[in-house]
Amino acid sequence: MRFHDSMISLVGNTPLVRLNNVTEGLRATVLAKVEYFNPGGSVKDRIALRMIEAAEASGELRPGGTIVEPTSGNTGVGLAIVAQQKGYKCVFVCPDKVSTDKINVLRAYGAEVVVCPTAVDPEHPDSYYNVSDRLVREIPDAWKPDQYSNPNNPLSHYHSTGPELWEQTEGKITHFVAGIGTGGTISGTGGYLKEVSGGKVKIIGADPEGSVYSGGSGRPYLVEGVGEDFWPTAYDRNVTDDIVAVSDKDSFQMTRRLAKEEGLLVGGSCGMAVVAALRVAEGLGPDDVVVVLLPDSGRGYMSKIFSDEWMNDYGFLEQAGDQPRVGDVLRRKEGGEL
Ligand code: PMP
Repeated sequence: MRFHDSMISLVGNTPLVRLNNVTEGLRATVLAKVEYFNPGGSVKDRIALRMIEAAEASGELRPGGTIVEPTSGNTGVGLAIVAQQKGYKCVFVCPDKVSTDKINVLRAYGAEVVVCPTAVDPEHPDSYYNVSDRLVREIPDAWKPDQYSNPNNPLSHYHSTGPELWEQTEGKITHFVAGIGTGGTISGTGGYLKEVSGGKVKIIGADPEGSVYSGGSGRPYLVEGVGEDFWPTAYDRNVTDDIVAVSDKDSFQMTRRLAKEEGLLVGGSCGMAVVAALRVAEGLGPDDVVVVLLPDSGRGYMSKIFSDEWMNDYGFLEQAGDQPRVGDVLRRKEGGEL
């Protein structure tokens, strides 16, 4: 009989798929590492598994313990799946701007979700930050993975994503492109690829315009899961050779093209990373192999990126000319879900 012991053993070993249409006119091969094939639907299953197993080994997470993390998205799903299979409880803390769909996904996997008001200062006792810290202190046997500072976040990629890419491309990969959120993906995967290739593989970060990684001040952008207004310790900036800044409009238009032209229904940070990868590939020749990592599926973005109305509100469907600025639209939509 051929079966897996549980969903946990399906984490990683995701496929590489060549991009055939959005790459028109380019001579290099561009391959996508499609992370929505992970059981929780995103790249974050990899870090969830390693962070939990390392905490079990170190004794930080004890049998029957509770995992507490401020997350509303992909990391929560990964943690919830691994936790339920291993007998841990999960409590996630998220701000009230998070859509009920996302919260219901976490609850469906058996996690408890505590929703905090967005409209309070970080110092306020009810703020997202303070509530998660208080829960860790008050719940017996609580453990907080903290993906932004946990070394097992980048290490999971050093031990899985990196070796998978080297093996899948038979060592022919020349460039690796990934978005930077916590920095775990690019630091771990990039670090491994640099090491195994003797420094030959170039590592390129993709970043939303306005985020600190590409020299911005942290001003608002709409791509989710990438970009920051601070420098997390999970990100090793020595690994990246270059950072490409991509606008929301370019990111979302490419996200829609990936669905229409490549059969890849993926999230906005995937469109962003592909825009960066195509810019990198422009100057390259037929022997170059560019791999771009696509973190999650587009299913979570149907009412945003895949809604014409939402795209039009921000001027993202226009081909040229002036478009409304994100800040203005955010103010107009005050109180709305973003
Ligand atoms: N895209 C999405 C949708 C994500 O959730 C994340 C994780 N925050 C990333 C990209 C970036 O990955 P990393 O945190 O490893 O830099």
